[in-house]
Amino acid sequence: MPTPIVSKRAPAYADVPDEKWNDWRWQLSHRLNTVEEIDKVLPLNESEKKALNASGLFRVDITPYFISLIDPNDPDDPVRKQVIPTDAEMVPFTAMMEDSLAEDRHSPVPGLVHRYPDRVLMLVTTQCASYCRYCTRSRIVGDPGQTFSRQEFEMQIEYLKRTPQVRDVLLSGGDPLVLAPKILEEILTRLREIPHIEIVRIGSRVPVFMPMRITQELCDMLAKFHPLWLNIHVNHPNEITKELAEACDRMTRAGIPLGNQSVLLAGVNDCVHIQRELVQKLTRIRVRPYYLYQCDLVEGAGHFRTPVAKGIEIIEGLRGHTSGYAVPQFIVDAPGGGGKIPVMPNYQISASDHKIILRNYEGYVTTYEEPTDYKMHDPKTCKFCQSKRPEVGQTGITGLLDGEDMFIKPVGFDETHDRHGIQHRLKDEKKWQPLGIGAGDAGPKEEE
Ligand SMILES: *Cc1c(COP(=O)(O)O)cnc(C)c1O
Repeated sequence: MPTPIVSKRAPAYADVPDEKWNDWRWQLSHRLNTVEEIDKVLPLNESEKKALNASGLFRVDITPYFISLIDPNDPDDPVRKQVIPTDAEMVPFTAMMEDSLAEDRHSPVPGLVHRYPDRVLMLVTTQCASYCRYCTRSRIVGDPGQTFSRQEFEMQIEYLKRTPQVRDVLLSGGDPLVLAPKILEEILTRLREIPHIEIVRIGSRVPVFMPMRITQELCDMLAKFHPLWLNIHVNHPNEITKELAEACDRMTRAGIPLGNQSVLLAGVNDCVHIQRELVQKLTRIRVRPYYLYQCDLVEGAGHFRTPVAKGIEIIEGLRGHTSGYAVPQFIVDAPGGGGKIPVMPNYQISASDHKIILRNYEGYVTTYEEPTDYKMHDPKTCKFCQSKRPEVGQTGITGLLDGEDMFIKPVGFDETHDRHGIQHRLKDEKKWQPLGIGAGDAGPKEEE
């Protein structure tokens, strides 16, 4: 596999001195967003022009560095599709939703999404270095009138202080790494003052859109707040340049474990072989593929959607075929706020009380004999079982296995199935005569 190459600049930038090109402030202030500006750097087609001239479309901004990764002669360039809008964005689709993950409903205070028992998502800005056309948060991201809000931040900190079950805070947005360094440092300082917050994570596409932002100075600042983890967002091998590799190297040397989250996008990376190249290149730059997301049901992103089965096919083509470190989890973020659900090929074929039948990636079918003398784990003598953290209302299937609960019922289940009660209520109202159901029949039993 070739080593990452220094990215080429689009010809329009040939005369920009290196010290400007490599300065993230220059990259930010020279972002492209109008038809005229973009067309000068990258000749646009009619569909793109139509979208860029339309009003009400999700914000466009592209760094000179990132637009330079596009091959102007390839109409299907995978980088192009991620940042240049086309008129396909204007096409609504069935099942389209504004806030498909129900994040707003899960927000105890503005900008804080508390969905899971022990961790929160904290939206610290609405700004990004460039805007992905399939953004799941396009309902709030990109609004130029809104950036970091001090008042909301104070409310978020207050909630976190009062909520000791939160041990993991995920900073996202928008992109936390476009914040002024002083503000980001203040956010991290304030989070670190809360003793029960064990880890802080950042989700950022800045290293991909503008790798020059990942200066040594920034890495030194971040390293003061360990344990700090960071996920980048790369979708296609063409985004893995020498500049990105160097930015990741600086972060890794600063002790920040790096992961990657990508989105499965039709026409961009919906191919086992593109994905193999992507995950292998990521591991070479010490970035661990973390999640591959099914595209959300977000307005403007209909043309990027693939069947869920495409993701299963991709995992089938990765697991066993390449390093386990290179295999992400394929995730469907459940519409309606159900959260992240992993989906994968089936490896278990059958089972009996003493054996399970498994298949591997090659189709080799094997048996695993279960132990006949397994001594059951005893929660009564296990210190960890005794001191487990409560997950009020969210123990889920684990709660069933633990014996804490015996069933999980949909809301209204009891009322729907209270046929016996209905019989009594109707009998009382003398509107219904019970049929003569004999003893032993499947009918409801009289309890009195
Ligand atoms: C994705 C997400 C997280 C983090 O989930 P992990 O599976 O731990 O990476 C936390 N909160 C919300 C609301 C999320 O959407």
